[in-house]
Formats: sequence, C-alpha cells, structure tokens
Amino acid sequence: MRPEVFLCVKQAAGLTTPVRFNSDASDVAPECRIWSTNDGDRFALDAALRAREGGVIGGVTCVTAGPTEADEALYYCLAAGADRAIRIPVSAAALFEPAVAGALLAAAIRHLGGQLVFAAQRSSDGESGMVPVYLAHALGAAYLSDVTDFQLDGTVVEIRRRIEGGHRQVWRSQLPAVVAFDRGSASPRYVAVAAMALARRREVQQLTESALGISLSQIPRPVRLERLIPPRVRTKKLPGPDWNQSATERMQTIVIGGAARRASTMLEGPREEVAAVAADYLHKRRLLRHRVS
Ligand SMILES: Cc1cc2nc3c(=O)[nH]c(=O)nc-3n(C[C@H](O)[C@H](O)[C@H](O)COP(=O)(O)OP(=O)(O)OC[C@H]3O[C@@H](n4cnc5c(N)ncnc54)[C@H](O)[C@@H]3O)c2cc1C
Repeated sequence: MRPEVFLCVKQAAGLTTPVRFNSDASDVAPECRIWSTNDGDRFALDAALRAREGGVIGGVTCVTAGPTEADEALYYCLAAGADRAIRIPVSAAALFEPAVAGALLAAAIRHLGGQLVFAAQRSSDGESGMVPVYLAHALGAAYLSDVTDFQLDGTVVEIRRRIEGGHRQVWRSQLPAVVAFDRGSASPRYVAVAAMALARRREVQQLTESALGISLSQIPRPVRLERLIPPRVRTKKLPGPDWNQSATERMQTIVIGGAARRASTMLEGPREEVAAVAADYLHKRRLLRHRVS
C-alpha cells in the first residue's frame, strides 16, 4: 500500500514596520504581525501533491499545532488539494520552544500511523529549523534536510539536496522518514479565493493532548528562548541643504542623500603624470609597497 504524506504546516507571522517588542522584550508586539501560511510549507505541499498525482503516495494529510487561527494554514492546504486536515489545539505561548511543536506533531503522526512526513526546512518567522529535527527524533525517524527532490520506491526514500557549486548529494533512507524541503524546490500552487472559501467549509479534525496521550508539561525542552534583542538604531548624518537654494533644489538635495557628497578628483593631463599621481596616492595609503617613479 502506498504511504500517506503527513505535511506539517504552520501559520506564520510576517512583520509590519516599524517593529515593536512587548514590555519584557520576549517577543514581537502582537499588533506588529501579519499572519499567512508559511512560505516554505507551500513548497513542501506542492512536492506532496505532485507525488500523489504521480501515484507515488496515497494521500496528503496536513497537520498543524496551534490555536484556532492556525486553521487558516490548513484551509490553504485543503484549497490547494490536500485530502484532510488535522490540528492539535494548543496556545501560541505553548509553542515558543520548537521542541514542543516537534513532540506534539510526532504524537499526532504516530497516533495516525504516519511513516512519511514532509515539512519545510525552516519557517519564515521563527526560522530555527529545529521543529523537523525534534519531530524526527520523537518519531524515531530518519531526518533528511535541505531536500530539493524526493522519490519513493516501496519503503525506500531517495532525496537530493543541493550543495555548493551547483553539486547535488543523493541520500537514501528507509521509512519512517521526515523530509525537510528547501524553499526553492518547487513552485507553490495558486489558490483561488473561491477554493479558499470552499475549503473553509471543510472539516478540520482536532487531536487533543489527551487523545494523543501526551502532556505539555512532560515534554522535555532542552533549549529555551531567553529574549529578543531589537536591532541597534543607526543614525545617518546628512549635511543639510543650502538655504539659499529654492525649495525644489533643497528637496532634490535631501532626496539624493545630502549636500556634501563624497568629494572625487578627476585626474587630467598627460598619461605619465596621471600615472605618477595615482601611484603616489596608492603608495601613501600603503596599497603599493614601492614608490613607482
Ligand atoms: C499560530 C501560531 C502562533 C504563534 N505565536 C507565537 C508568538 O506569538 N511568539 C512566539 O515566540 N512564538 C509563537 N509561535 C511559535 C513559533 O512561531 C514557532 O512555531 C515555534 O517556535 C517553532 O519554531 P520555528 O518557527 O523556528 O520552526 P522551524 O523549525 O523553523 O519550522 C520548520 C518547519 O517545521 C514545521 N512546523 C513548525 N512549527 C509548526 C507547527 N506549529 N505546526 C506544524 N508544523 C510546524 C513547518 O513545516 C515549518 O516550516 C506561534 C506558532 C503558531 C503556529
């Protein structure tokens, strides 16, 4: 029997500008977020749908761990062609550590008898890249990273991953396996607004902690997010415009970046003289070891 793909999908936050942090600097302020389906997961979804269309796998089940709002990511997957959607209801705060998301997803996938898991290599907001690793560990599955191409022959998974200089590596493993896709590996499908509206009427099955026999407080968390550090504010000094100029000229000066642009000197004259001045210039700045005469 052909295995089903369990696709991990996450509703990810984009940021507005300027970004503000909450009072204890532990997170971005909620009003500075814009939610959408994680980009990388759309690539992984496309790979799963192509595998199903090619008759390689039996179906595509998308799974998310998150609050009710995370259903939007599942609706996107259903609208694009996924067969069923599952959410593990959990508060956003409980997911701060990637180990928790990994353990919950693993519990759900094990509960459903899943052997083949697709995910993105890293999310577009948290970007830790740790969830698929924790997931593979909790499932006792092989972990295949940076995947650009996937094939399945019986219970053998073969993947390609891109390395430097355009070279590729081919890796092989037995099921169970977690396949983490590189972002550029496919092209996410266009989902029409009407398809999204229809998907929102479909069922999202919920698998609670008690149904999974797992307790949040007992999930080991080997690493912990300490705090966020906002970027340093760098001020750029711009010389002001000349007040004798017209308003238009002053605006132009501001737009091009200030009145005093870096001074440049154009060398003119016979070739030998120009070369001597240039050599002297380089020598004084220790770019030429010997003075050229
Ligand atoms: C709706 C929602 C709201 C959140 N709000 C906050 C918040 O306000 N502040 C905060 O600090 N953290 C929040 N989190 C948790 C945080 O964003 C990450 O989910 C968590 O720390 C995982 O780390 P990561 O993003 O680095 O994942 P990565 O390891 O980079 O993710 C790689 C891949 O793993 C899979 N994956 C990751 N997380 C999930 C998941 N939950 N469900 C299904 N698949 C997943 C996806 O395929 C993803 O592309 C929220 C999470 C969700 C789902």
